[in-house]
Amino acid sequence: MSKQVYKRYLRLVTQWPKDQHKNPSRDLAVYLGKQVEAAFAKDAPTLNASLCEKKLNSLEQILSNKWADAYPHNYKSGSFGLTLEQVEQLTSDTSRKQLGLAPKKGILKSLFSFLPISSNRSYSTVSSHSLLSSRMGAVVAVLRGCSTKEGEGEDKRLPDPGGGRTSSMYRASAMEERGANGKEAFKKATEAKVAVVFTGQKTEALPGKPKTDAWYALYRAHNARKAAICYLEENEEEKKRITSILHEAGVTEMEEILVKESALPEIEKYTGLKGMPIVFIKGCPVGDESAVRSVVEGGRLSEWVKDHEYDLIVIGGGSGGLAAAKEAASLGWKVACLDFVKPSPLGTSWGLGGTCVNVGCIPKKLMHQSALLGHSINDARSFGWKLPPKAEIVHDWKILKQNVQDHIGSLNWGYRVALREKTVNYVNGYGVFTGTHEISATDKKGKVTKLTADRFLLATGLRPRYPEIPGAKEYCVTSDDLFSLPYSPGKTLCVGASYVSLECAGFLKGMGYDVSVMVRSILLRGFDQDIAERIRKQMADDGIKFVSSVPTRVEELEPRTKESAGRLKVYFNLKKEDGTEEETSEEFNTVLIAIGRDAVTADLGLNLPGVRMDKNGKIVGRRTEQSFTCPYVYAVGDVLSGCPELTPVAIHAGRALMRRLKGKMELTDYDAIPTTVFTPLEYGCCGLSEEAAIARFGKEDVIVYHNVFLPLEYTVPDRKEKEHCYLKLVCRASDHDRILGFHILCPSAGEVTQGFGIALKLNAKKEDFDTLIGIHPTVAENFTTLTLVKKEGDEELKATGC
Ligand SMILES: Cc1cc2nc3c(=O)[nH]c(=O)nc-3n(C[C@H](O)[C@H](O)[C@H](O)COP(=O)(O)OP(=O)(O)OC[C@H]3O[C@@H](n4cnc5c(N)ncnc54)[C@H](O)[C@@H]3O)c2cc1C
Repeated sequence: MSKQVYKRYLRLVTQWPKDQHKNPSRDLAVYLGKQVEAAFAKDAPTLNASLCEKKLNSLEQILSNKWADAYPHNYKSGSFGLTLEQVEQLTSDTSRKQLGLAPKKGILKSLFSFLPISSNRSYSTVSSHSLLSSRMGAVVAVLRGCSTKEGEGEDKRLPDPGGGRTSSMYRASAMEERGANGKEAFKKATEAKVAVVFTGQKTEALPGKPKTDAWYALYRAHNARKAAICYLEENEEEKKRITSILHEAGVTEMEEILVKESALPEIEKYTGLKGMPIVFIKGCPVGDESAVRSVVEGGRLSEWVKDHEYDLIVIGGGSGGLAAAKEAASLGWKVACLDFVKPSPLGTSWGLGGTCVNVGCIPKKLMHQSALLGHSINDARSFGWKLPPKAEIVHDWKILKQNVQDHIGSLNWGYRVALREKTVNYVNGYGVFTGTHEISATDKKGKVTKLTADRFLLATGLRPRYPEIPGAKEYCVTSDDLFSLPYSPGKTLCVGASYVSLECAGFLKGMGYDVSVMVRSILLRGFDQDIAERIRKQMADDGIKFVSSVPTRVEELEPRTKESAGRLKVYFNLKKEDGTEEETSEEFNTVLIAIGRDAVTADLGLNLPGVRMDKNGKIVGRRTEQSFTCPYVYAVGDVLSGCPELTPVAIHAGRALMRRLKGKMELTDYDAIPTTVFTPLEYGCCGLSEEAAIARFGKEDVIVYHNVFLPLEYTVPDRKEKEHCYLKLVCRASDHDRILGFHILCPSAGEVTQGFGIALKLNAKKEDFDTLIGIHPTVAENFTTLTLVKKEGDEELKATGC
């Protein structure tokens, strides 16, 4: 059986057209190929023969159908569909005449006479709303605006062009059925070889240009082969002008989509473009006539509409880039993903996966865990464990580093495999634009590969910034180097008030190192400053020294080797009591620079496609991740201006963007994103800080409920941190105490914050927290019992146990 299926598959592979645009079956082929090849691979699960059979059948149908390349299709259901225009075109009298068929009698009758079906048909009525809500990517054939009247009479019994059974083909009776919901319709449609899903709306019959809803307009516009125009009113002059610009650039076809006025707000929301008309080129919203003209500049439009090797090139294989590349490939695009790590000034480099996996979240959290375990070992004695004397319990940096790096290595490998499985072409080269649609990728041997694509996604992330002082790049490390240091870091100075600086200082102290933090002014700019100050106090209580200064130079006293950190002398100015400054110095083994991170865009050649950047080098784009100045360039993750620099944000944005470019109404919500700083006492927050809330709504309108609390697990071992656990809810008084932000400083704050994050999404109010029953005894339950209102000049709060 398997062999038979495989043979049929191979035969079909040789049949499908090479030109991807004329090839509606490419993604079906890829899917099938994977199924079949998996069955032949060692250890593969047994082939789902009937599934493959079903898909082969539909593939054969598609290939044997002369209209096939006009059909949108859905490989998962093994079926294909028609847009309204295509139905009109197929069922026009001219088409029928050409094929020697009698003049049009009814839309469905005509439609079925063109489809190579022989049996097993089903169809269903469904409202456009439920189509959407069921996330039905598999609209097999959407016939909108069919009048019920037309279905009665001669069309009541549908013909069977294949000459097979005609039973159960009563359209009229289907019309009488209560409209199936999306799920039912989807089920029926996927079970059938060919299904017709249509809205049972009683509108006037075709032809005539029906006005479309937002979802349908966006679906069609994003999936138009070359160009589409969405418009509100017939404006022949305007259309003519736009058509002629497109013509000059070589666009010969443009889908026209007349939209309902009520569709405007949603179209604006999902394209980021105001007003009508909106021209789409290769699925990317461009804008009105003047926007189209601006793409003509520098020959960008004529180059854009040519055929390119890839549908999408992603530059940057980190959190955002990988997620987007895989999603795009599974939606049927031909995708290349470039990733290349330029070594740090000290020569550190790493594998596929970007910052998070290699030099960010993952090693950082593992090292934080290592430090927490150190504290837990100490606690263990109070909980009854007999342990060797304290002096015998030592931390071994090399073991930790090796195990962390081994884990990272396995993740790097996993990402490569995932890209291959999704048929994304991974290019380990540094990508630079060398044309408006051309990327040159240079590998580590200097070999250059040129690639072209219809659209591009920039996900190049950030790299650590260095201060412009002597010795910084020569002798200091950054987070790019720390997690793979071959030697134990020894006495360490962390320079900077960023969360990276504080987190590293925290875990190094937890492992037993002598740690200082040098900061110019406040800690954790942008975070709630009340909490930032509490973090400083807790870390200082833990023995971390805070120095208010900035380094002026770093000298090497003893070079570092593979075995040891060496010795460095750091010079800095300290303020004396009389206000004057005095230069002083201190010796350290390791100096970690964590003063911020800069976008990796300077050498990308972004002037060629005309992509604008802000003063920090980040891509300036709409909330739809599309560059303001170049409509076929998108950006996600840290490199996008205004985007929170967090892994889950990059991943979500990458995936949602790809689905939207395929016509799905989906946006990333950049507000109320929960996050956590992994200092020794974790700080979790979501929404506005107290300062930001006051700045936005005014002091009078902001009410803060807060308290200190005592985690039960800190009581028995009498942990010092118990003095510092704190939480607050920032609320808007004039809006029934709606929660604007919440903040918590405690063990496992990350877990607590993730859970409560949904409350902000759902617009929770203080009373929702009050009516929520707590889980006892947890740290999170403290959110359910807050009654204390924060006042100016509050005295120190004291925690009590339950
Ligand atoms: C120490 C540290 C700790 C962090 N901890 C957390 C945390 O706990 N939680 C959290 O959510 N976030 C954390 N972050 C932030 C998180 O790592 C980033 O937000 C996330 O990695 C951003 O993903 P990205 O896809 O935008 O970019 P990146 O993951 O940085 O990926 C960009 C990739 O593009 C490559 N690249 C750049 N230019 C080119 C080019 N021209 N050609 C080819 N390849 C190129 C880069 O080498 C890199 O591999 C941390 C960051 C750091 C530094």
